[in-house]
Amino acid sequence: MNLKTLYKISYGLYVVSSKMDKKFNGQIANTVFQITAEPPTIAVSINKENLTHEFIRKSKVFTVSILVKETPLKFIGHFGFRSGREVEKFQDVSYKVGVTGAPLVMENTIGYLEAEVINSLDVGTHTLFMGKVVAAEILKDEEPLTYAYYHKVKRGATPKTAPVHIEEGTHQEIKKMQKYKCTVCEYIYDPEKGDSGSGISPGTSFEDLPDDWVCPVCGVGKDKFEKKV
Ligand code: FE
Repeated sequence: MNLKTLYKISYGLYVVSSKMDKKFNGQIANTVFQITAEPPTIAVSINKENLTHEFIRKSKVFTVSILVKETPLKFIGHFGFRSGREVEKFQDVSYKVGVTGAPLVMENTIGYLEAEVINSLDVGTHTLFMGKVVAAEILKDEEPLTYAYYHKVKRGATPKTAPVHIEEGTHQEIKKMQKYKCTVCEYIYDPEKGDSGSGISPGTSFEDLPDDWVCPVCGVGKDKFEKKV
């Protein structure tokens, strides 16, 4: 059995949010899909350890914000690698409260769905929540972010359209520099590309990064990085 076959399944990338009492929480999820058209129903698979899981279970509502292709890694890291138990996820994020009472992320979002849970299935580590769509809106007619594209960018394979892209072969001396990998989120620091989001110019070695530099995706320090082999 080759489990890497599972990598061939394509997904999008979303912020799934919910509420509990007056609190909001949201997280990154790739497992969102439509089940039926009539009535419109969708499903999300959520890890039981996540705070969003607890919120959906109690409030029986969830929202899905569909991320735009150009969503910054830092934004994904904020929702994907921080726990709502430690940070207030919606504090510095533009959002509005939907008809379900749950929050809808308005930044980097091309459209959203709101759903009321009609059924759920315990699948060990996760719960599959099925929901009837009660609201849906397109915000921008732009391309959605796919899981594959996100991984390509995160692994340093910056697309040609990105401002930090450097033509292969033009920076021989830079290319020899060691890449480093974040052990928490697998982001790869590539000296050839630098980290434009933190003002690090291409050609800056990992060693030369300032001590207070943090992973642009998950926010951990340099000590959580290791040499990429
Ligand atoms: Fe990281």
